[in-house]
Amino acid sequence: MIPPPRIVIAGGGSAGWMTACLMAKRWGHLGAEVTLVEAPDIATIGVGEGSTPSLKRLFEILGIAEADWMPACDATYKASIRFVGWSPASEVADYSHPFTTQIDVHTEDAFVNNCRNRRLGYDVPTRPDAFLLNGVLAAEGKAPLAPANFPFRMEYGYHFDSAKLGLFLRAHAIARGVTHLSRRIVRCELAESGDIAALVTDRGEPIAGDWFIDCSGFSALLMRGTLGVPFHSFSDNLFNDAAVVLPTPPGEAIPVETVSTALSSGWAWSIPLTTRFGNGYVYSRDHLGPEQAEAELRRHLGVAADGAEARHLTFTPGQLARHWERNCLAVGLAHGFVEPLEATALHLVLNTVDLFVDHLERGGFTARHRDAFNAVITGRVERVRDYIVAHYKLNTRDDSDYWRANRVNTHLSAPLLEILDVWFRRGDLAARLGAMEGLSHFQSLSWHCLLAGYGAFPPLGAEQRDDVDFHRDRDVARFLGGCAMNFPSHADALGLGAMAC
Ligand SMILES: Cc1cc2nc3c(=O)[nH]c(=O)nc-3n(C[C@H](O)[C@H](O)[C@H](O)COP(=O)(O)OP(=O)(O)OC[C@H]3O[C@@H](n4cnc5c(N)ncnc54)[C@H](O)[C@@H]3O)c2cc1C
Repeated sequence: MIPPPRIVIAGGGSAGWMTACLMAKRWGHLGAEVTLVEAPDIATIGVGEGSTPSLKRLFEILGIAEADWMPACDATYKASIRFVGWSPASEVADYSHPFTTQIDVHTEDAFVNNCRNRRLGYDVPTRPDAFLLNGVLAAEGKAPLAPANFPFRMEYGYHFDSAKLGLFLRAHAIARGVTHLSRRIVRCELAESGDIAALVTDRGEPIAGDWFIDCSGFSALLMRGTLGVPFHSFSDNLFNDAAVVLPTPPGEAIPVETVSTALSSGWAWSIPLTTRFGNGYVYSRDHLGPEQAEAELRRHLGVAADGAEARHLTFTPGQLARHWERNCLAVGLAHGFVEPLEATALHLVLNTVDLFVDHLERGGFTARHRDAFNAVITGRVERVRDYIVAHYKLNTRDDSDYWRANRVNTHLSAPLLEILDVWFRRGDLAARLGAMEGLSHFQSLSWHCLLAGYGAFPPLGAEQRDDVDFHRDRDVARFLGGCAMNFPSHADALGLGAMAC
């Protein structure tokens, strides 16, 4: 396969530099020229500091060791996300959604069976973190780094400084031959066919290319601005459209999890780095003003936030109608944004670039390949949206209009309605998810974590049957406790053992 000779990337945020690194890696040795243009006077978004395990995969593809990039980006390990205060009426103070790892195959059945038995009215444990190794490690403050004799592959994500990650990837890309131009793009030249022929910068110079990647952030300069691709908003499904961000100093211990705490009109994240905590409050402007949101976040963080400067930003949840249009691909915020809960944006960046490269390598410059690609990416974004919508739909808070409005929101997609229907009818959710079309980042185990985590069960003893097979978590806890024994503490894994003591 011959790659497009000249690839021009518009935008140098995390999405732009990830794309540049991946394309240089896949196509550099075949003679592809990769150029990235970024405006020196338009800042990157500067948030986005939690990942899924796909960031681990990115560094594996690029051949970059953790010891090389993690200290440079103040990065820590992420085994799980803990949700606090989302479902008080179900008496669930908090629950975790750990990243699934290979050894969970031994305990997944016990968890899924308990969820089924609990739906049948039996009083059995259903806390996801008690059944999944990363949940146990997060509770013990241990890094998800397997000891040498542990025969299973561990999955985990990271927390990192987004600006430093961008700089690190930039240096890597430039060292591998990517041309970096610090210029503002002011317009595009179109070919007679309607394809993009060149980006024109504020210096009047055209930057010609065969393929253009729009990584220009929310402005989607090429896709929306030049090619007029429509944007489909998710505002009916998801109410949050703003965030306020505040750093606080690092704690003595560095947790191995992101904490997402429900507040009056949204939720606050807490992301531990080696040098600070990244915090933010994602909220709905229909329910709360920016000043109130900042005041509430400061109250939530306490004295740790005194003197810290807040940053405010807004967004519209949704995605482009098409992610690949003519000779242009949208990646990152330019292609859309669901919302930060579950930290899936960079995961979708890697997904999009991977799939695009695969399509092109199969000779896919045709409309058929383009349409197939667009359908897959659109579906993946929608399935992420559905999972996040379920968080809001299932909340049991009653302290504000925001939470009540989320609970009665009827804008649910058909696949989400089907999932909830199977669950509440006490059906086999794993089988139904397996039979549903399209590949979702959130598979059966994740859905069980979410539904169990919200306590989405009938009252105890409501409908008991005699033929069920209980799987108590006692044996599971003993098994997982044994597995966790030899894992290093998080601080030791980061080389900070002495500091944390
Ligand atoms: C509140 C919030 C929290 C988030 N949390 C997470 C998270 O935990 N995990 C996660 O994976 N993601 C998260 N995200 C998403 C994440 O921030 C982005 O996906 C990621 O940073 C990639 O952004 P980007 O590169 O697409 O855009 P940006 O960072 O906005 O970069 C855009 C680039 O385009 C350039 N540009 C724009 N216009 C021009 C022009 N005219 N000429 C030249 N260059 C131009 C800019 O200079 C910049 O370099 C979050 C987003 C928000 C809003």
